[in-house]
Amino acid sequence: MLLGVERAVVEDVRLEDDETIVVSVRPTARERQRCGVCGRRCPREDAGEGRRQWRALDLGTTLAYLEADAPRVRCKRHEVVVARVPWARHNSRFTTAFEDQVCWLAVNVSKKAVAELMRIAWRTVGGICKRVADEELAQRDQFAGLKRIGIDDFAHRRGHRYLTGVVDHDTGRLVWAAPGRDRQTVEKFLELLGPERCDQIELVSCDMAESIASAIAAHCPNAIRCVDPFHVIQLATDALDEIRREVWNQARRAGHQQAAKDVKGARYALWKNPAKLTEHQKVKLAEIQQTNKPLYRAYLISQQLREIYRVPHEEAVSLLDAWLAWARRCRLAPFVKLAKTITRQRAGIEAAIKHGLSNARTEQINTQLRLITRRAYGFHTPEALIALAMLSLGDLCPPLPA
Ligand SMILES: [Zn+2]
Repeated sequence: MLLGVERAVVEDVRLEDDETIVVSVRPTARERQRCGVCGRRCPREDAGEGRRQWRALDLGTTLAYLEADAPRVRCKRHEVVVARVPWARHNSRFTTAFEDQVCWLAVNVSKKAVAELMRIAWRTVGGICKRVADEELAQRDQFAGLKRIGIDDFAHRRGHRYLTGVVDHDTGRLVWAAPGRDRQTVEKFLELLGPERCDQIELVSCDMAESIASAIAAHCPNAIRCVDPFHVIQLATDALDEIRREVWNQARRAGHQQAAKDVKGARYALWKNPAKLTEHQKVKLAEIQQTNKPLYRAYLISQQLREIYRVPHEEAVSLLDAWLAWARRCRLAPFVKLAKTITRQRAGIEAAIKHGLSNARTEQINTQLRLITRRAYGFHTPEALIALAMLSLGDLCPPLPA
């Protein structure tokens, strides 16, 4: 009971080096000679590597291990494999309770806290997340009832490595993720989904790239393609930033040190939702309005674009018309270019407004994925990062033991 182990017989308990408790166990009769993969009863093959140890949850301040024989069995389907034990997952050197607790901590507390508290390396946490996520995924149908999905890619690690993730817009859950960001990656997901369920997809939101759009058109005949509000806002933010940098460079080259500094410091004030500005940031914006007309105009144009996702659908379409007219003749090159892009992508942008995709929600999941990606530095495989993302955002995390 103390170790969270069931269906096992305790044979012996010993203290090693005054700091480790080792508990010898064996599975109960019913649990013996079962395949480690499928659990089927099968004949014994040999003694395997002999005795094996599994790290268990600490007993107070003392490290605890379970120790048992690890015989091999011959399964009809899985050939010769190490026999299943009721206290641990297949091929793991930790007990199930230990791994469940590590996952729960990995999702809920800081990286440093998990590793220190559980006395394991962060890299080991990655391996545990992977094993637990795989087991949870095998036990459930992640794709049940999918109708409205979002497909997005994001960079992980420096050097242009990408993951593609699929989100269920109705539950807000991450349902699938894989390395890569091309048409083939998206097609891998659509093939897993199968033709019947592809038919049931009503809406797909994504960025403006042609690769995803063409895969969707080929596999999901009933789906309406929407452009994710998040990406539209992102483009406006980028355009604004381009102008800010230009103004900053001009000021610097002209020797206006203070002006250059002011523009640089205003970066966050320009990006932020006006309702959330601090007093200091409001003052910054007011200064820009006085001293830097083009930058302030760019600010207003980018804020106005956000507005189309905040008003009712009918209003949004005429607001978008007004925005396009304004941006086309604003004489700010990045926004003139953005107006062209938006005109080209208009059908997808309007579809997102019509079907009520909010920027707040798509942005939130995107932000969360980025945070998890940053935490997963040190995992060394994209699969471990995907596992942590699925545990956190896919609702797969096991509860704490007992
Ligand atoms: Zn088997």
